[in-house]
Amino acid sequence: MHVEVRGLNKHFGDFHAVKDVHFGIEKGHLIGLLGPSGGGKTSILRMLAGLETPDSGEIRFHGELVNALPPQERGIGFVFQNYALFKHMTVFDNIAFGLKVKKTPKSQIKDRVMELVELTGLAGFEKRYPQQLSGGQRQRVAFARALAPEPQLLLLDEPFAAIDAKIRQELRSWLRELIERVGITSIFVTHDQDEAIEVADEIMIINQGRLEQKGTPWDIYKEPKTPFVATFIGESTVVENARELKGFEEAAGGSGTRALIRPEYIEVGGPDEFRVLSATEEGIVRHLHFRGSEWMVEVEVGSHKLMTYRSLEKDTLQPGQPVRVLVHRAYLFNDERSWIEENR
Ligand code: ATP
Repeated sequence: MHVEVRGLNKHFGDFHAVKDVHFGIEKGHLIGLLGPSGGGKTSILRMLAGLETPDSGEIRFHGELVNALPPQERGIGFVFQNYALFKHMTVFDNIAFGLKVKKTPKSQIKDRVMELVELTGLAGFEKRYPQQLSGGQRQRVAFARALAPEPQLLLLDEPFAAIDAKIRQELRSWLRELIERVGITSIFVTHDQDEAIEVADEIMIINQGRLEQKGTPWDIYKEPKTPFVATFIGESTVVENARELKGFEEAAGGSGTRALIRPEYIEVGGPDEFRVLSATEEGIVRHLHFRGSEWMVEVEVGSHKLMTYRSLEKDTLQPGQPVRVLVHRAYLFNDERSWIEENR
């Protein structure tokens, strides 16, 4: 395990910001720390970096305890959202900065900077100053600067937050490729689900100081361990009383069990489309929204509004039309537990 964290806790005054966090990260993996604002993501990152001292817990890099090491001795590169490039230095000097601090010989600095300029697609920009670059280019300089001293671990705090949507999209796939080529273990903080799902090998969902779940984006989507995770990753509709759902009455048990239904757990169609009518609900199409390749269909079933996606010709379904709705699976949860149930 490259990075290992055990029993990490941090208070700010009376406020318990990071609560007993455990995790391990394999070498070369790109991990996304994802969660709502104030959940503790940055605090975890800052403790890994040595910029914040944990109240308790162990942080190990390659098995070695680093709690007592200052930031500059941890072999870490950083990239933050607000570029933080040196404005009075050229691209070349910005990238060379960490190497100069380490007293690397001049000829080696030049080779390494040119290597990174190539790697980050900045060839030809070496003599420019940060204000002569676009936001995306500046952020690439920030990556080149962070990677130049060959860190063991790269920490990224909302690296694309200040960049507009289209360029951010490009930078995500760019980052993915860069990290694969360099093979460096990286952790990035984001509150953007899509970004985490698209870029990360594994995601850690952080909420109210706790690590709620760690896993590949697909595993987390498919098998959320907590209601928070289930609603935070992916779209879904919550039905307050799962007993009201046909096919789930028994599984739901007593009252107090809620159901969470992903769009793909639902099928909507005319009566002929379903063979087992007893397990389907009667519903009414309320809205159809065109989403590019598909339609989002909102159907009213009793007092619930369920949503799903369908690729269809425009006139197949109409608002106001009665339909049958099959909920073929649901994520159920109550105060004690959560589980996935198929419609019987
Ligand atoms: P965001 O996405 O908004 O950056 P985050 O998940 O990174 O949020 P943190 O920045 O780690 O969250 O903050 C966690 C909690 O700890 C917040 O409630 C924050 O106000 C509090 N906090 C963080 N740093 C300090 C500090 N130095 N002093 C007091 N409280 C702090």
